[in-house]
Amino acid sequence: MQTCLVCNDEITNPICINCLEQELIYWFVDYDPKLVSRIRVLKRAFDMYEDTEANCIKCGNNINVCSHCFLTEVMNLIKDENLKSLFKKSFISF
Ligand SMILES: [Zn+2]
Ligand SMILES: [Zn+2]
Repeated sequence: MQTCLVCNDEITNPICINCLEQELIYWFVDYDPKLVSRIRVLKRAFDMYEDTEANCIKCGNNINVCSHCFLTEVMNLIKDENLKSLFKKSFISF
């Protein structure tokens, strides 16, 4: 079992933040392009955490933090409530 270095929960949805960043930027270009540069900054901050042994199901690289921790921080960047709930529906399925 691999645990996330931020929340100490088990990594159950192993997608690395590189792959997530690509999907997020694709999404935000459509919905709120102003936030794209802030997502890039946030992702670089998350890069500082050490890798775990878990591998990304998309690209195979090692994962450092779980997708939930990263997506929660991204969601905090969104100020518009409608966009926030749309974001939840698109990326956070719990
Ligand atoms: Zn986490
Ligand atoms: Zn990946």
